[in-house]
This record gives sequence, C-alpha cells and structure tokens, in this order.
Amino acid sequence: MIPLLDLKAQYATIAAELENAALAVLRSGGYVLGSPVADFERNFAAYCGVAEAVGVSSGTAALHLALEAAGVGAGHEVITTPLTFVATVAAIAYCGARPVLVDVDAESLTLDPARIEAAITPRTRAIMPIHLHGRLADMEAIGAIARRHGLLVIEDAAQAHGAERDGRRAGAFGDIGCFSFYPGKNLGACGEGGAIVTKRADLAEAVRCLRDWGQAGKYNHIRKGYNFRLDAIQAALLDVKLRHLSHWTEERRRIADAYHRGLASSDVGLPAQAGRDHVHHVFAIRAPARDALAAALRPDGVATGIHYPRPVHLQPAYADLGYREGDFPVAEAAARETLSLPIYPELTPDQVDHVIAAVRRACAASRSPARADRSRSSQWREDAGPADSLAFRSPHIPDGAPIIDEVCDARRSA
Ligand SMILES: *Cc1c(COP(=O)(O)O)cnc(C)c1O
Repeated sequence: MIPLLDLKAQYATIAAELENAALAVLRSGGYVLGSPVADFERNFAAYCGVAEAVGVSSGTAALHLALEAAGVGAGHEVITTPLTFVATVAAIAYCGARPVLVDVDAESLTLDPARIEAAITPRTRAIMPIHLHGRLADMEAIGAIARRHGLLVIEDAAQAHGAERDGRRAGAFGDIGCFSFYPGKNLGACGEGGAIVTKRADLAEAVRCLRDWGQAGKYNHIRKGYNFRLDAIQAALLDVKLRHLSHWTEERRRIADAYHRGLASSDVGLPAQAGRDHVHHVFAIRAPARDALAAALRPDGVATGIHYPRPVHLQPAYADLGYREGDFPVAEAAARETLSLPIYPELTPDQVDHVIAAVRRACAASRSPARADRSRSSQWREDAGPADSLAFRSPHIPDGAPIIDEVCDARRSA
C-alpha cells in the first residue's frame, strides 16, 4: 500500500542526525526553552526571512497567541474561510472573537479577496488567510484590503513552510505568520510544535510572554498567559529537519509535477499549476464521484485522504455561528470533490508512477463499455450520481466501506 504519508521513511533518511540531537538534549538536562528553542527560533526566522520567530506548543497555540498578542478579543470579528482545519476557526473562538467566514477562490481554494470587503464591519480586527494545501493565498490583494481598512493580517501558514512569491516566504506577508510542526506537516516535529514569525518586535515579545505564563521575569505575571512553550527536544529535532526542508520541498515539487504530467489527459481535475508559491503539502485532485474513486484506488494499493470532507461552517461544534449549507458553495464543492493523493519527499518515482497508473485505471474502469448505457460521458467531469459511484466500488470493498477511515488517517498524518 502506498500511504498518504510515510513518517518512518523520512526518519530513516536522517535517523542518526535526529538521534544525536535528541540525545544531546536528554543529556543536557535542559528540557524547557533554553538554547535548543532559541537556536531553532533564530534559524526558522532566517528561513522565513523575518526578524523574529517564537516557538510554541502547536500550530493551534500559534494561531491563538497571534490573535491574542494582536489584541483580538471579545466583541471583535476575524475574517477567514470555512475550508480549513478546524483549528483556524477554533483559535478565533478561543480569544472570544467571532469568526466571520468568507468563501474561497475556486482555483486556489484560498480566501477569495473579492469577497472580503462585504464581510468587513466596524468590529473586524483581522483577516486570517490560510495557505491551503501549501499554496500561498493572494497576499497582495489581501494586504491591500487590510491596509485600506486598518486591519491586521494573520497568516495560517501551517501547511506552507517555505512557499514563496517575489522573494518573500509564507509567514512574512502579514503582521504575523503561524506555523504548525505537527508530524505530517512539511516541517514536522516528532510530536507537537508550532511557531509564530513576525517582523514586529512588539508582537514577538507579546507571544513570548503569553506562551510562558505571561511572565516578565520569574513569577512576575504581567499578562494572563498560558503554558504554550515549544518543547526543547522538539526544537532540537526541528532544527535538524529544517536543514533538509528546502530539499524536501523540491522533492514535493518533483512529485506534483509528475502528477500534473501523468494525469493531464485523465478525467480527474487537477489543482492549478503553481510555481514556487506552492509547497504541495497536499496534492488534491477533483472528481465528482470522489468517494468512489477513493474506494477504487484502495485495492490498487493507493491510500488517499480528504482535506477536508466537511467545511467548518457545517461542523456541529460551530453550528452556533449560524451558517447553513449553501452559504459557501465553492468551499462546499471542494469538500465534496477533492481527493488527496500520496505526496511526501520520500515517495519514489516508481510509487508516483503507480499512483498515476492507478488513477488512470480507475478512470478507464468508470468509462468501461459495461456501463456505457449509463454514462453519457466522462463522469469525472459530469454530474456523478449514486449509480456512477457504484462503478467504482471494487468487488473487494463491501458496499458502504468506510471512507471515514481515510479521513481519520489523513488527520493523523497531515
Ligand atoms: C495543522 C493545522 C493547524 C493546527 O496545527 P496543530 O499543530 O495541529 O495545532 C492549523 N491550521 C491548519 C491549516 C493546519 O493545517
């Protein structure tokens, strides 16, 4: 089975380096903050091309503290999209602010700048674009709107370490950039981790204070803070991995290019071609009969994931926001139709070829003469009803096989 992601394969390539770094921390007895965290922060700030990085305990903590450091709180509104991992919206709610959702652009699946201004009110404080799947949002347009209305821009760059445009990298476009080092991210810890990056010394200082109990010196609590520190051992491991990140990113681009070439003439929809502004955290193809396609790929040895199967506004936990199905049709269609193919730096050319062949076989099977009476044309491009979906059900997979497994796998790994 070609997995969606293979963390053991990555570990194998740098095992000695990681083990030495972990051992050094274990032997040092310094397990909280200290030089491993400070060293990684300096190197990660340099990588992102900003003055400051502050390591925190997760990507969620990064988002939460970024908002709080920026003064976002009760009575405020923050604009973001419903097509994201739930943490983006949760972080806004943690601060007591209201998440105001805006649909995504159909091509990039990132916050649609054309829809932002209609959502701005006197209570709006910040815009929070997500570089979904590793592709930079339209930061120029979003930045221009923010300047016009005096709003902060806080980037959810959890999936986009190193994505760049015009010499600037993810996290360096807005006031603060927020990163996750969840194991499956492009730069992943061996556990939890996150960071904010910023060119503003005041915001960095505020996050530094908030992550460590709001202290200015020992037992002097000047803010109501949190225990959101980045673990020293994780920082040491991240510092090792950071040295490999540029190479890994090029490998992801190699795989994405191969998928583009190999699937160009197939029936599945491909993400728009992108350049260096995309670091391919996720490679999401589109098919109206997405679940059936996933079910057909599995017995052919290809695992898939869905990022994300249900937009945040349709999650039961956020029903109180008052949105309904149909409010964000572009995000809802993406949630129904996107299917993530395996992509990770260690994926071999043979494995990539296997994935391409499997997708093409599934497409061919769905167009086979046996079902020509039912399908007028390629079902990937046309509406695919339940009848079409059945065409993808392999004899090895019982009816109604739980695609949900793959969704959970995706969360565990991505
Ligand atoms: C992973 C992720 C987060 C949360 O990061 P954690 O480190 O898991 O807390 C937030 N936003 C996006 C877009 C993510 O992909």
